[in-house]
Amino acid sequence: MFEAGIELQAKHGRDNVYDFTLGNPMLEPPAAFVDKLRQLTADPSPGMHRYMPNAGYPWVREKVAEALSRDSGVTVRGQDVIMTVGAACALNITLKALLNPGDEVVVLAPYFVEYIFYTSNHGGTPRIVHTDDRFLPDLDAIDQAIGEQTKALIINSPNNPTGVVYPRSLLEQLGALLGQAAERVGHPIYLLSDEPYRKISYDQEVASPLAIYRDCVLCTSHSKDLGLPGERIGAAAVHPEAADRELLVQAMTFAIRTLGFVNAPALMQRAVADLQEVTVDIDHYRHNRDLMHQGLVAAGYECALPGGAFYMFPKSPIADDVEFVRRLQEERILAVPGKGFGTPGHFRLAYCVDREVIERALPGLARVRQEC
Ligand code: PLP
Repeated sequence: MFEAGIELQAKHGRDNVYDFTLGNPMLEPPAAFVDKLRQLTADPSPGMHRYMPNAGYPWVREKVAEALSRDSGVTVRGQDVIMTVGAACALNITLKALLNPGDEVVVLAPYFVEYIFYTSNHGGTPRIVHTDDRFLPDLDAIDQAIGEQTKALIINSPNNPTGVVYPRSLLEQLGALLGQAAERVGHPIYLLSDEPYRKISYDQEVASPLAIYRDCVLCTSHSKDLGLPGERIGAAAVHPEAADRELLVQAMTFAIRTLGFVNAPALMQRAVADLQEVTVDIDHYRHNRDLMHQGLVAAGYECALPGGAFYMFPKSPIADDVEFVRRLQEERILAVPGKGFGTPGHFRLAYCVDREVIERALPGLARVRQEC
């Protein structure tokens, strides 16, 4: 899609191609981040750019732990937090620490495709379980998929690619199910909550699984909420009462080093420490969501209204989503086929773009719909 976009842009000009393929936020980081960065780069203290403990600066870990405690109601300590190179690193060090060859990780489809690779990176096997018709976890299907080999389940709410936010009551049922399943199989089943979109929620509460399930690891970042994906800063947090908590944190700290990340970037750790409650202007994404959703529905698309993140996952009007996305390309509209998320028959639109891009693309989206 990326290549196709470049080709189309070369042919028609950048402003005439409507690219909804990437979750690369167009909002610039908040002024508080830029001010902080200025202050940090002017600081003459020695050692600002040196190695620090692999898990990150202890004082930064404390600050992140305080924010997570406020958010979840669970007392997270600095020693439960590891500063990471984005959420991707948080997921990889957690899976590296948890998995033995042959272990299974339950992945809910539609999924962020990297989960498949991250799991196999560390000798695990992804066990795909489809969500229900509202893209919510199907508890019976999850229960059936769990066996002796199951080590973890990954959830992502607000979700990429669907924008769905999981209700608290559903997370509570999921927690109960995992607890019973762990007893059945005789070992802990960890809940990996991948939540880089936690703060991008429009009208729904985003319940923290930390308060719901003990054997839980949060994987998060500031890629989306502060608009810093290129700066690679995030965190992993292990529930303070998780099974094997100490060993798990030690293994993750060792893994951040041996997987070659070494530590989260020093400057970025310092920059985000005091910005735990700051976000980009979420209202901008809310307006984009409303504009795009109203336009799609008016054109006859079937699409659930996303509660968070900045993605929509409409139904493809024809069964072949790859062919449908090809037809959109004829209108210079770039989308990702649902097949790429393990759920054919849909397509993903990332609406973290300038508003005009949506306004200019809607007539083309309507034309393609009419021709189907
Ligand atoms: N998880 C999900 C669901 C994502 O959408 C992304 C990035 O788009 C990531 C993880 C990786 O985030 P990061 O850039 O913080 O590594």
